[in-house]
Amino acid sequence: MLNILDIPFTPLDVAGILTIIFLGIALFLKIQRIKQLRLEVDKLNKSLEGMDEQSKLIIRTDMELNKIQEELDKKITSLYTLQELTRAISTTLEEPQIFKRIEVERLKEIGFEKALIFLYSEKDSRFNLYLNIGYVSEDVGIVKAFIEANGSQFLNLIKIQKTISSTSAVEGFIAKETINSLFTVSAFIFSVLLPKDGDKGFLFVGTENKDTLITEGDEELVTILTNQLGQSLENARLFEKTWNVQQELEKKVEERTRELALVIEGIKKISKRKTDFVSSVSHELRTPLTSIKGYAAILLAGKLGEVPLGVRERLEKINRHSDELVHMVNDMLDISRIESGREVMKIEPYDLKIISARAADLLSAQLKDKQIELSIDIPVNASEVLIDVNQIERVFINIVGNAIKFTPVAGKIFIRAVSIGAWIQVDIADTGSGIPEEAREAIFEEFYRVDSLINQQVKGTGLGLALVKNIIEAHGGKIWVKSKLGAGATFSFTLPVK
Ligand code: ADP
Repeated sequence: MLNILDIPFTPLDVAGILTIIFLGIALFLKIQRIKQLRLEVDKLNKSLEGMDEQSKLIIRTDMELNKIQEELDKKITSLYTLQELTRAISTTLEEPQIFKRIEVERLKEIGFEKALIFLYSEKDSRFNLYLNIGYVSEDVGIVKAFIEANGSQFLNLIKIQKTISSTSAVEGFIAKETINSLFTVSAFIFSVLLPKDGDKGFLFVGTENKDTLITEGDEELVTILTNQLGQSLENARLFEKTWNVQQELEKKVEERTRELALVIEGIKKISKRKTDFVSSVSHELRTPLTSIKGYAAILLAGKLGEVPLGVRERLEKINRHSDELVHMVNDMLDISRIESGREVMKIEPYDLKIISARAADLLSAQLKDKQIELSIDIPVNASEVLIDVNQIERVFINIVGNAIKFTPVAGKIFIRAVSIGAWIQVDIADTGSGIPEEAREAIFEEFYRVDSLINQQVKGTGLGLALVKNIIEAHGGKIWVKSKLGAGATFSFTLPVK
């Protein structure tokens, strides 16, 4: 067997062998290096792949963000439009105007080009059309017939008060495809219209745009719109109701006013007849009264012979009663003359202090008899009036005369005056019996006398205050009384200032 050591190697062979060995080692190292490089390349490739994924993710996120931004922009525009729409429909109180204010342009801004409003009339048991945007009448006819045919479904929608759309249909409700084809849309929303009173119904909005996908936000938006519509309808109906009631009331007031005018006319006629009657009767009474008084005077004077004492007493009574009658007849005549305007007031500027003093002087005997103290307080700024002096003097004498009559011994009477704008108010107060509440207006009527003990004892006709009232009113003033039963009365009247 041949041993390798037995082979004779030349130095050249050895060098060759060494070279081969060296090259082998170098090759091995190279291969190792390549392997390492490959691993690194793999690593690099892997990280590059990872980077690709990230950039894809970034691009995707960016796109999504853009989409969200777009949607947000759309929402903001829609919200603006909704705000304008709600403002437009809430600023009218006329029902037809509310629907007219939903304009096609605004509707488009919130993504729809078709809209219908139907309200269900309980009275006619049918749906009536109140708004049509985007449909020709023929199509509306078809839609209306469909709604009528499926009335219970739509009524149920109103009942459950739901907003539904092509993405959120209610179970049991008409299929979305049917609605799409009948209403010629690709996406839609139904939202109910629920005013508190009167007809309720729904708003339908739709679009033919195939890219439109109704979101919850869209439903909310349309619901806000229908809520506002319902509120506006409610307001308009309430306003109409109030307006109708007001019209009716006005009509009634007019009617009543006309009736009242007729009644007043009648009263005026009766009053004139009464005045004429009183006036003619009074005139007729005056003549026989004058002759009675005349004959009594002749008899009393003894011109027809001696008058026995008993007869004289009776004749004097006839004379006194005749005087009272004449007085009464004169008062009646005065009242009817002033009432009918036949008695013209002779107006002149005058001082109330003078009139009060004169009345006090004229009544001084009665005041003294009953030890009644009369105090007068008329300041300078409340004394100049524009009056018929004689008539106003009668007013003072009548009221102060009454005060004396109805005030017990040692009582007090006050005459005061105060200036109130273009008027002077005179108050004549006493500490007498007072006047019951129920009689405070009636005492100014003719012949009215309070049914009291004093009135049974003191004489009177019940004409004095009626005359006083007529005189004050003929001056444009007013008269009234305040009193506390048992604690006196205050008569107040107004007179024009100079
Ligand atoms: P007469 O005094 O002749 O009865 P008047 O018209 O002057 O008629 O008065 C009507 C009624 O008003 C009187 O009968 C009396 O009952 C009541 N009256 C008037 N003045 C007073 C007064 N100062 N105090 C209480 N009652 C009065």
